Amino acid sequence: MMEKIKIGIIICDRYSTCAGGKCLRSLTNREGAFARYKGMEVELAGYTTCSGCPGGNIEYAPEEMKKNGVTHIHFATGFLVGYPPCPHMEHFEQFIKSKYGMEVIFGTHPIPEKYLKTHSKLNTWNTPFLQRAISDTMTDQTTRLNYD
Ligand code: SF4
Repeated sequence: MMEKIKIGIIICDRYSTCAGGKCLRSLTNREGAFARYKGMEVELAGYTTCSGCPGGNIEYAPEEMKKNGVTHIHFATGFLVGYPPCPHMEHFEQFIKSKYGMEVIFGTHPIPEKYLKTHSKLNTWNTPFLQRAISDTMTDQTTRLNYD
């Protein structure tokens, strides 16, 4: 039987009205940070926002997700591409891993090309942490343009 993974997505509250289209498309297509699940069955078992700076829902949402079988939490690509990127990501990662023992993955859908252009000009992602954080969603230019 094919391995099944249950995932949860937490989005940056700056995009709280987002309908999730890019995340869901990339999950179906196994693109961006979802490429890791190629050949696996995946169930989206939770979707919520951080509840706004400084991210109070990070304390609680993973607990509910875990009760529903979620083992992998994705911080949506908005965490990475916002202006500025979420300043709390590293702490959130450590907290969720330490308290809940869940895997934390930075990003969901591929970074849209327009964000890459602006962040490159701003030199935003020029830290070892952010280089690691964007690595799964950088993809290639054709894919990024499909998510513009
Ligand atoms: S910047 Fe971070 S803490 Fe603030 S709303 Fe976005 S994800 Fe939440």
